[in-house]
Amino acid sequence: MNTVATGNLENAKSLEFPIPSGVFAEKVVSVEHYTDRLFSFRITRPQSFRFRSGEFVMIGLPNAEKPVYRAYSIASPAWDDEIEFYSIKVPDGPLTQHLQKIQPGDTILMRQKPTGTLIVDALTPAKRVYMFATGTGLAPFASLIRDPETYEKFDEIILTNTCRDVADLQYGDNLVRDIVNDPLIGELTEGRLRYVTATTREDFPVMGRVTTRIEDGSLFAALGVEPLNRENDRAMICGSMDMLKDVKALVEKAGLEEGSVSTPGDFVVERAFVG
Ligand SMILES: Cc1cc2nc3c(=O)[nH]c(=O)nc-3n(C[C@H](O)[C@H](O)[C@H](O)COP(=O)(O)OP(=O)(O)OC[C@H]3O[C@@H](n4cnc5c(N)ncnc54)[C@H](O)[C@@H]3O)c2cc1C
Repeated sequence: MNTVATGNLENAKSLEFPIPSGVFAEKVVSVEHYTDRLFSFRITRPQSFRFRSGEFVMIGLPNAEKPVYRAYSIASPAWDDEIEFYSIKVPDGPLTQHLQKIQPGDTILMRQKPTGTLIVDALTPAKRVYMFATGTGLAPFASLIRDPETYEKFDEIILTNTCRDVADLQYGDNLVRDIVNDPLIGELTEGRLRYVTATTREDFPVMGRVTTRIEDGSLFAALGVEPLNRENDRAMICGSMDMLKDVKALVEKAGLEEGSVSTPGDFVVERAFVG
């Protein structure tokens, strides 16, 4: 039976556990920390692993006989050679208290079946797509805005990244800067990818919840576009339960109807976490 060493992970240094069936054991390639609550990491991609940009997968660590698995949006696009994740660090979180300590060379377990509703195929075509993200809810959009398919379907992509503090915006800021400068995808995004950042707590040029900015119209005024409407706009929403509920109510008020993978519609939602 294949076993996997637990590498640098605390509490499990010298242990070895069998790789569960239906699970890939991949190596951490790189890790980047942004704040004491946020980090991202890249792992090797199994050749047979296929997913659609925007989907999520269950990941865990090989530090127990029965590893704890959690849902993670894949932040890298479907064409990438590696898999990227953008993660929270929950101090006593069963997974992330350990996950935040990973280093290159460590092993990540990844279940083989990706799934999710935040895929472009779940939306009907339109001029524009809004991607409303708060916190790590940005992760699926990090995948989608790097996928040429998104630009084939929509003329304009408006990504809103709303976080508590300025430093929480770092991952998204780096991402968009790198996309714009990328020799391949950069050209596609020119004048079509619009990135709107805001904070809810720390001082920043744009402040306030995205729901407030939709409701009072300041989001659209700042972009120079007409208010949300069914004819031209589609939406993808990823954040906390409260954020989903509130943004969903607003897009429905604008006349958009919810879609799914089996029945494409005007907007789709996904939780960024449970609780
Ligand atoms: C469909 C889906 C996709 C997800 N994608 C991601 C992702 O890409 N990146 C990511 O970091 N997490 C993501 N999550 C959350 C993830 O599954 C775990 O909850 C998270 O990694 C913490 O795991 P834990 O075992 O340490 O703590 P848990 O026991 O899972 O969580 C403890 C508490 O921490 C809070 N919490 C958990 N996750 C977050 C978060 N992301 N942001 C803010 N507060 C949180 C909640 O209040 C939760 O009750 C996703 C969840 C779902 C349902």
